Amino acid sequence: MRRKGRKKGNKIKKSFNNLKKAFYYARQQKKELILFFIFNLIFCFLGTIAPLLTAKELIALTDGLLIQLLEIALAVLVVEISLNFGRYFSRKYAQIFTREILKKIQLDMAREILRIETSELDKKSSGVFIDRLVKDTSRISDIFLDVTIQTTELFAEVGILIAIFVVSRLFFLYYIIFILIIFFLEKKRVHKFNELDKHYRKSAEATTGFVGELVRGIRDIKVLNAGDSFMAEMNERIIKINEERYEMSQVTRKYSLFVGSVRDLLDFILILLAIYAIKNKLISVANFVIIYMYKGRVFNLLHLFGNFMEWFKDFNLSCSRVFEIIDDTTFKKENFGTEHLNKVKGDFEFKDVYFGYNENKMVLKGVNFKVKHNQTISFVGKSGSGKSTIFSLLARLYPITKGQILIDGHDINELDQETIRGNISIITQNPYIFNMSIRENLTIVKNDLTENEMIKACKLACLHDFIMSLPEGYDTLVGEGGLTLSGGQKQRLAIARAFVQKTQIILFDEATSALDNETQENIQKAIHNLKDHYTVLIIAHRLSTVIDSDQILLVENGKITATGTHEELLESNNTYKNLYNKELKN
Ligand code: ADP
Repeated sequence: MRRKGRKKGNKIKKSFNNLKKAFYYARQQKKELILFFIFNLIFCFLGTIAPLLTAKELIALTDGLLIQLLEIALAVLVVEISLNFGRYFSRKYAQIFTREILKKIQLDMAREILRIETSELDKKSSGVFIDRLVKDTSRISDIFLDVTIQTTELFAEVGILIAIFVVSRLFFLYYIIFILIIFFLEKKRVHKFNELDKHYRKSAEATTGFVGELVRGIRDIKVLNAGDSFMAEMNERIIKINEERYEMSQVTRKYSLFVGSVRDLLDFILILLAIYAIKNKLISVANFVIIYMYKGRVFNLLHLFGNFMEWFKDFNLSCSRVFEIIDDTTFKKENFGTEHLNKVKGDFEFKDVYFGYNENKMVLKGVNFKVKHNQTISFVGKSGSGKSTIFSLLARLYPITKGQILIDGHDINELDQETIRGNISIITQNPYIFNMSIRENLTIVKNDLTENEMIKACKLACLHDFIMSLPEGYDTLVGEGGLTLSGGQKQRLAIARAFVQKTQIILFDEATSALDNETQENIQKAIHNLKDHYTVLIIAHRLSTVIDSDQILLVENGKITATGTHEELLESNNTYKNLYNKELKN
């Protein structure tokens, strides 16, 4: 019992926190909110007197008071037109208010997604982020819109209750009982619906992730002839999601059936009560006409209660899912230090570094090495030995488990994000090229890039001549819907990006796939252009690349087992000698 109470207390605390966080955004749009409330108050005030006038119209009509009827009709006309204006302006400001909130939440969320620890990203499906960024934030802003619009409507309907109270206490009591019965039924419905909605959103985000994978991997799926298995999986997911959606709508349908019938019954009781009250002179016919005119508004009030409960639960669920990402609780964020270096020279040191993607399996088991700035260092070793992991740790994509990484003598954990990421570029085997023009792919890392700087970077990356051979040159669109770049061209564009970024440290993961001789030569030339000006670390898959490196590190099973120049290692290390001989034979 006590545990249940504590659970409920926690839930209330969480809801309150969600509201507080959401209102942080609402507060920033104070102007629109105030304008909205002013127009909505006018709207609500007029909305309360409109039915009163309509009732008077009816009474004047039945009493044959035609002049009075005309006067009231004119007043109704003025009130109704003003109501339309009130509605127009209040909705307009409500819309601007929620649009701005949506924009701010989505931007904050996108920024926070970029800060999430890579290890968290490895574990989660992309759907978790896509659905929350797109669907849940939209739900929050939609509910804000509904709530702002309907809050004043709710006040107006409460005004109706006061009017009923003034006209007849008996019917007021009747309506209150009526409201309470429907309110409890609605509460049950909303609770059931919300529980199902929680599961539904989890399944939906998993499906979004799956669809993302399907789209990204479409070429491989075709080649692997795996279309049928993917279709079977898709079918299963669609069936599951549809079933969950159906369950949710079933809840609404069943309750509508029940609540609708209860309402009809209460409606019938209203007439019985009217017969009794009129017969016993507890109310005049004219006053009952007014009460009867308000019936629709009381129904509307109930409808609003139901909506508010539903929105509150939905709002709470959406906020929890969104703030889980914006806050630092569920999704761990990257933690950088505060030390800032204006210029990094490019000295590195790994001191007895241990690291594992999961705690019980170490991938790096005591890595030690030192790199002097402007040196070119190559890492060689079997696939899976931990070379790429070393690069990821240098770029602080993962925090290390044990040991120390030093950049220019400073512990990587003490340095701020700008110092690390602003001074290191990684050129991966298959670099991510954005679906933009070549120019935009370069300006994305430097907004104020000049034409000369851009051309110089592409020349150094041995890419300029190729770009100039394209009909639209630097404005050629690459990626989806544009020009498809080969692996080698992508790598050279990434090298140009590193030149543009002017990072002092460049980590280069050489492509494993066989590139044609010319491309390979161009990449070699581009790397050569970096030599002695930058600290360059290369994961070499071809030993021809490493020959003129200042130092070669042999990585075996998460450790550096040998260090030296090509000649030194050929002489002293059998593993290296075997690797070299094997490649010569190929
Ligand atoms: P190399 O670059 O030498 O081929 P890696 O550093 O890529 O080796 O991989 C070292 C080990 O770490 C491998 O066993 C690999 O399966 C594992 N590994 C690499 N990346 C991840 C990851 N993101 N999550 C879990 N394990 C990983």
